[in-house]
Amino acid sequence: MRILKGIAASSGIGIGRAFLYIHEKLVVPHTSVPGGKTGSEKSRFTGALKVVASELSEMDNDSIAEDHRKIIETHMMMIEDPEFISSVNKLIDTDHICAEWAVEQVLAGFIEVLETAGDPVLRERSADLYDIGWRVIRELMGKRRADLSSIHEEVVLIADTLLPSEALSLDHTWIKAIALNGGGRTSHVAILARALQIPTVVGLGKITDKVRVGDEIIVDGNLGEVAVRPSSASAIKMRDRYTRWLEHESELQELAALETVTKDGHKVSIKANIETVDEVESVLKHGASGIGLYRSEFLFLKPGGATEDEQFEAYRSVIERLKDTGAVTIRTIDVGGDKVIPGMEGLGEENPILGWRAVRFCLSRKDIFRIQLRALLRASAYGKLKIMFPMISGPEELDNVMLVLEQVKDECRRAEIPFDEDIEVGIMIEVPSAALCADLLAPKTDFFSIGTNDLIQYTIAVDRGNEKIAYLYQPFHPGVLRLIQMIVDKGHQSGIPVAMCGEMAGDPLSTVLLLGMGIDEFSMSPQSLLEIKNIIRSITLVEAKELVTKVMGMNSYININTYVREWMHVRFGDFVTA
Ligand code: PEP
Ligand code: MG
Repeated sequence: MRILKGIAASSGIGIGRAFLYIHEKLVVPHTSVPGGKTGSEKSRFTGALKVVASELSEMDNDSIAEDHRKIIETHMMMIEDPEFISSVNKLIDTDHICAEWAVEQVLAGFIEVLETAGDPVLRERSADLYDIGWRVIRELMGKRRADLSSIHEEVVLIADTLLPSEALSLDHTWIKAIALNGGGRTSHVAILARALQIPTVVGLGKITDKVRVGDEIIVDGNLGEVAVRPSSASAIKMRDRYTRWLEHESELQELAALETVTKDGHKVSIKANIETVDEVESVLKHGASGIGLYRSEFLFLKPGGATEDEQFEAYRSVIERLKDTGAVTIRTIDVGGDKVIPGMEGLGEENPILGWRAVRFCLSRKDIFRIQLRALLRASAYGKLKIMFPMISGPEELDNVMLVLEQVKDECRRAEIPFDEDIEVGIMIEVPSAALCADLLAPKTDFFSIGTNDLIQYTIAVDRGNEKIAYLYQPFHPGVLRLIQMIVDKGHQSGIPVAMCGEMAGDPLSTVLLLGMGIDEFSMSPQSLLEIKNIIRSITLVEAKELVTKVMGMNSYININTYVREWMHVRFGDFVTA
């Protein structure tokens, strides 16, 4: 037996046999073939097309959802496209190259044409083409990768890493837990695992080297531990801890309908973060008072992206279902960084985290941005919607996105499309420069929402997804706490509310401190809501402010951590401080 320690990323415990999933970097062979051998390369290509086509038709059965079927149909059309097939065959004949190389070249050419096309629908198709083209290349190379969505037995998924688009394809009926070599608590795969309610531990180093396919595995997503081939004694211990945790969770459920108010009457609101429409049920069950962050980019991470109508339907359905509960804050797409749109992976920025991300992407792809803003405005006619812009770095950038929004509003007025004329527009504060000039930004916006996942990453210069430096990722770093206090104060001085939607808002260890600092709204993954509500209802604002005064006078995150942990442990016990 072996116990591996990592970072707890999604609570619960999952038990099952190991399913190994490793991304290897494929190097496409660039092999020349003599003239006489081109015929066999063409037959290999035809054979690969046949295998992929038959896999696609096997996937197309009655049990799949309509949008999944559409994707399969599109892929099928591409694989049968005469132009694609003849271009590859021609290249093999004229350039005397192997089939893999020919597909790679033809694919690159087709994708370029689609991506530079004026028509956004055509551009969206490039993601599908990329997907299907690489399937053919893999088949030719004999490097077929397991399809995660086709897992139909209970397994624990052990992987080096998972792309957000892969995580989206997981079915929690079968995936009992996830354990990853890489990643941090605030990496997007961890956020998705919480959304899917799959117990997960990340940042385990080389777990893929230590596990064999079929090994029995227990993943404890509360403690961040993974037991490989566990002894029966430790299995019993882990299950026992889990049972106690479930009891605690069910006690918390009684708080769902109660107000979020401190013992001395200070009210705050607690809201949910969601990535997909499917999570709304869990939001309602856990007693959120609205949605503080809907990460709309996840609509775009599936092949084919999302059309204006698809977006509108998704936004409208969330807003309507929350109509009697509270407002829904939808963030405009934050792609880039670790959220790559399939088909755009080839852009290969050297430094994507500091690169073409979020509003930077939207301002240079106004076609995509305008479509999203129009879909949002249309949906705003159906309930209480707020728009939020991510990664704003300063006043000019905010002016630029506001200008586009005003233009789209004008278009809607001219086209007599109804929308909420009083729609509130806010920004995320997650870049240190925005925090430092919060006083300049506050008068231009209706609310702030602090994105601590990125704010910590950029303030301490520590990649939020890199397990090697995860020890530096410290929410209680004095630099981070000072910035948060500054944002709250500047927001309040301008009379706007200050929310927090980074993972720190759902971390029980931080709740009292944040409350004392003046956060008005806490937005988090639905599973954390009741724990946070319980803490807020158990203390006074006066106590919280005293804690802030004490902590702000301390000189290191280690001291702050130790002090706050002890303070919280005395009052709330080990489920809060695990
Ligand atoms: C954040 O950065 O804190 C945030 C909420 O946005 P995301 O995690 O999607 O980058
Ligand atoms: Mg962010």
